[in-house]
Amino acid sequence: MKEILFATKNKGKLREVRQIAINSELLILSLNDFPDIPDVLETGNSFEENAIIKAKEYFNIFKLPCLTDDSGLMVEQLNNQPGIFSARYAGVNATDEDNNRKLISELNSFSEPHKAKYYCVAVYADDSNIITDHGEILGTITNYPKGKNGFGYDPYFIPEGYDCTMAELDADTKNKISHRFQAFNKLFNRLKSEGVIK
Ligand code: IMP
Repeated sequence: MKEILFATKNKGKLREVRQIAINSELLILSLNDFPDIPDVLETGNSFEENAIIKAKEYFNIFKLPCLTDDSGLMVEQLNNQPGIFSARYAGVNATDEDNNRKLISELNSFSEPHKAKYYCVAVYADDSNIITDHGEILGTITNYPKGKNGFGYDPYFIPEGYDCTMAELDADTKNKISHRFQAFNKLFNRLKSEGVIK
């Protein structure tokens, strides 16, 4: 088994990525195993820059192969906002409810459909490689939230081809279609084909 650090404290993301890596010979640790490590600031101008900044920084701290991701919601009528600011759309300490309230108020003056996508960049870094891949899932934003599963903007996001929100899907179904699944699945396949992992 190869030890690898997924630099996240988010237990939902960790569960998803462990599931995607189930057939790889990887022991995936997370930042929950190292509670005293401070967060690395996301100072980049794109999902990719942010994910690479985190991967390099955590590799320097731990000297362990690292996985990172950066993800968010892009809404066409809002010029692809909130984008990299998805977690802090309504302010630095904003809750999911605050961010969702801002999203719906910004969309107030636009007519439906509010076309959107979730986007995710996944990165692997070690002492000699920085490998990135990305995934996305298209959908629309509804003005009326539904569902209790998932997190973030899920109660407002209707994936293309579904007539329910992401928050109404069970975790297994979301994990098979999500932007994060696409990004990490492609990344792990690439790492395998390049012989970096088994
Ligand atoms: P990060 O990748 O942890 O920086 O997440 C950025 C933000 O994007 C989250 O706080 C959510 O607001 C939003 N986001 C990313 N992925 C999802 C998802 O799968 N569902 C709902 N919101 C998401």
